[in-house]
Amino acid sequence: MIPRNRRFLRAGGHWTIRRGMGHIQPARQKAHPMARRKKLYEGKAKILYEGPEPSTLVQYFKDDATAFNAEKRATIEGKGVLNNRLSEFFMTGLANIGVPTHFIKRLNMREQLIRQVEIIPLEVIVRNFAAGSMSKRLGLEEGTPLPRPIVEFSYKDDALGDPLVPEEYIMAFGWATQQDLDDIVALALRVNDYLSGVMYGVGIKLVDFKIEIGRVWDNDYMRLIVADEISPDSCRLWDIETGAHLDKDVFRRDLGSLTDAYTEVARRLGVLPTNVTHATKPTPIN
Ligand code: 5GP
Repeated sequence: MIPRNRRFLRAGGHWTIRRGMGHIQPARQKAHPMARRKKLYEGKAKILYEGPEPSTLVQYFKDDATAFNAEKRATIEGKGVLNNRLSEFFMTGLANIGVPTHFIKRLNMREQLIRQVEIIPLEVIVRNFAAGSMSKRLGLEEGTPLPRPIVEFSYKDDALGDPLVPEEYIMAFGWATQQDLDDIVALALRVNDYLSGVMYGVGIKLVDFKIEIGRVWDNDYMRLIVADEISPDSCRLWDIETGAHLDKDVFRRDLGSLTDAYTEVARRLGVLPTNVTHATKPTPIN
């Protein structure tokens, strides 16, 4: 039996003993300054924590890599640090040309502050050249130029292997309306133009990429914004001169060091952190 004057309080994940408390205070109001934030979601490559303000989250980039629906797994030291920097670079560039994104600011080596969104359960894939699943499906040689950028949608469901879905399914199941889809395609093509240009400028061909889109509300007005991440984990990037893969296919296909590939992309873009292997813990910011 705990004496009445010794109460256990849960403060940001830590149990603490407070003496002489007349009542138990809500943990969130009196969070310990060193307390970890509340974890809301853990995915394959990222963790989402509660943010310091309403409608914000902290996105933490892990070093974990998975492929083939998580059948292949590894921890690649420094990947999270590189993806945090690269996603910051691309999201900031998009904001600068008027494409709305969830990115607010980078907090440290592995974390960024983002707007909380309601994720539309679709992977929005844009392709400029045939590769990956499109090459398999259509028997096209990888690298074949496409007649125009092609936007396709997969339903985000790991258990089902993120199946390709037609627009008819998306509207029938209520994941997005026709108007949403028109806006998503327009956003995806703007992202494609921006990313293709930036990558071309540093000698890299943007073969294809995946983005995710989230809904945010400003009062009653709903907007669609780019969410999740943009990094070599979610793009196919080929060196224009040599054709070398500088993206997650290096891991998927055992083509060498993933860290070296991502570091090369970061170096060319001028966003190389000084020490990519320095592991940081989530920093309390609230
Ligand atoms: P594919 O359909 O050819 O496998 O992938 C097309 C593009 O979308 C590639 O750039 C690939 O990296 C990206 N992509 C597709 N599914 C996923 C996914 O579940 N996670 C990530 N990070 N990227 C994906």
